[in-house]
Amino acid sequence: KRQRFGESQLTGTQDKKVSTANRDSKDFRCLQEQREQLPIARGRESLMRSIALHDVTIILGETGSGKTTQVPQYLLEEGSYHGQIAVTQPRRVAATSLATRVSAEQGQPLGTLVGYSVRFDERVSPGTRIKYLTDGMLIREMMNDSLLTRYGIVIVDEAHERTLRTDIVLASLKQILARRNGRRDERTAKGKGKANPLKVIVMSATMDAEKFSNFFEKAPVLYVKGRQHPVSIFHTSTSQNDYLDAALRTFFQIHVDRPPGDVLVFLPGQDDIESLESSLRLYASQLPHGVSDVVICPLYASLPNAQQAKVFLPTPPSSRKCILATNIAETSITIPGVRYVIDTGKQKEKRHFARIAGSGFDTLLTTDITKSSAVQRSGRAGRDGHGYCFRLYTEDAFNSMAVSAEPEVQRSSLTSAFLQLKVIGQDLDAMPFMDRPDQESVGSALRTLWLLDAIDNSRHLTDFGRSLAMFPLEPQYAAILLASVNHSCTSEVISILALLSSSAPLFTDSSSQRDAANEARAKFRHPSGDHWAMLNVFRAYDEVRVTEGKSGYKGWCKRNFVNQRALREAGDIRTQLRGICDGMGIDCNLSCGNEEVPVLRSLLRGLLQQVAFLQPDGSYKQVMGPSVVKIHPSSFLADKRSPAIIYNELVYTTNIYARGVSAVYKSFISEFPKLTGIRVS
Ligand code: ADP
Ligand code: MG
Repeated sequence: KRQRFGESQLTGTQDKKVSTANRDSKDFRCLQEQREQLPIARGRESLMRSIALHDVTIILGETGSGKTTQVPQYLLEEGSYHGQIAVTQPRRVAATSLATRVSAEQGQPLGTLVGYSVRFDERVSPGTRIKYLTDGMLIREMMNDSLLTRYGIVIVDEAHERTLRTDIVLASLKQILARRNGRRDERTAKGKGKANPLKVIVMSATMDAEKFSNFFEKAPVLYVKGRQHPVSIFHTSTSQNDYLDAALRTFFQIHVDRPPGDVLVFLPGQDDIESLESSLRLYASQLPHGVSDVVICPLYASLPNAQQAKVFLPTPPSSRKCILATNIAETSITIPGVRYVIDTGKQKEKRHFARIAGSGFDTLLTTDITKSSAVQRSGRAGRDGHGYCFRLYTEDAFNSMAVSAEPEVQRSSLTSAFLQLKVIGQDLDAMPFMDRPDQESVGSALRTLWLLDAIDNSRHLTDFGRSLAMFPLEPQYAAILLASVNHSCTSEVISILALLSSSAPLFTDSSSQRDAANEARAKFRHPSGDHWAMLNVFRAYDEVRVTEGKSGYKGWCKRNFVNQRALREAGDIRTQLRGICDGMGIDCNLSCGNEEVPVLRSLLRGLLQQVAFLQPDGSYKQVMGPSVVKIHPSSFLADKRSPAIIYNELVYTTNIYARGVSAVYKSFISEFPKLTGIRVS
């Protein structure tokens, strides 16, 4: 089944629908030349032939060969496929950045012919033919259109990452193929949709294609050869305790000693990126004369669109770009000009603990990367010439890394996925997954949905459950939102949920000015705890924005040690949530003013599994789990003793800490028979 690409040279892009004036510009011609130079261009014809012949095609190709940007355009330019082309991405930055690039390559404004759709943000129009979207968004779309009829082609990109959502998409596509193309399933073949067949393309950057091919009844596998130059790899001789410090020193060694070429640093997460960015800036400003400038570009999942673009701008003369990225730059986004890679060997990984907390919870842990990631990371240095990769770990450490990551379906919370599948009439247990989910997580997800009243005793989806799934929120948060309608406090609750959904922490780190920060924070304090304090911040921010305008609120955020980005992001999310509420006929202006009880009652409705009661020794015992927790020192309630608390999350360090805490009355809990029933036992 395997075949290599032929050598057939392509002459120009065969556009059939040339339309805009934009297309005569020099920039546009330059982009077309770049397209033709990509390794994948040589294989275009054999690719198109295979796709035309088969329902499913697997494309394997080295990062940067042109899979993600070119394959959808080739298909569009064929002119023979109907419907839209979906290209799924595990991460939102990749989806938006790729859509921007491909729009430019098509010479059309973003959101017209080429668009994107990610959680809390969308740029599409009725004429959109190529849509980059997160796999989570594609699952959402299945809730309204279970056969994905609007798409003629679905491309599942970055399949090697095996995220939970990718696995759900793959399993669903297998079923949709049977129903829309019908060949294999005689019973459902008759009639329905046969006129609208579906093509599926699975793209991956690593070599384990066999598994995908077998999953789709031995689909053909095509290989795209990349343009990879050799990379010299260096390991440290001893292990490094402080990878940020090691990265900082390594960067300046490269910068001072080595010839031009940009540097890409792989870091676990946004907080590390921000902290390294500030130390780099500090040192870069003190460089002696004659050493070139440093241009620092952060790159992580929730980075605003405008800032992403910076990574792709040409490096100014006599300066060196330093890109600080999470594993998003491993395979999803290829950045030209990189000659040096610094690899901390760390990543953030979502882990689900089904057992520890009783209710089960997800947490982001900084973990060692896998061998496969390490190899991808070093490969990023060899795109434009001989490259260098500096691994901030020993060769022994490399040798003892796991070969590749465990699929996420076996290590993350399934609650939200379970609910979404219920809405599209699927049962997680019955889905044809490539790897079976962990049974403990299945049990935990079912229990949570049952407690929320999203499913009934016989596991059937309830009307309430169906409403929960309408929101791009965890079911627990959606339940809080819907409860706020009954308690007439949607306005307050939407603000709180928007802040909880924002990817950045609300208060900025202030270890150097602890006292000033504490004093500033004290202004937002509320006796009920952290949720209302968050609301106080948001309210103050809304007010300052009106009274002082854009320039004023920046200073306000700084003075108050409040993270402006968190508020900006929360503002966008709030707008989105209001839009969804409007669509459902929910009044988002219901306000409880300054009365906290309605808000606490609403919060409790979703956080039923995150309730704990005070113990005589001042710690708190979970109502629904076995653990004893303490209140995190960052909480406004850290030094208080409240008979009962609810919390957003648990953090594991030396103790189990509850973070994002509010005090509730024990009497509220009696309103929830399921909870009290369990407590008795
Ligand atoms: P693959 O999917 O095979 O890894 P891509 O199609 O993503 O490859 O990338 C092909 C080329 O397009 C790369 O050389 C990359 O540098 C370029 N590219 C992709 N996105 C952008 C962008 N937003 N801006 C500039 N160049 C981009
Ligand atoms: Mg790609």
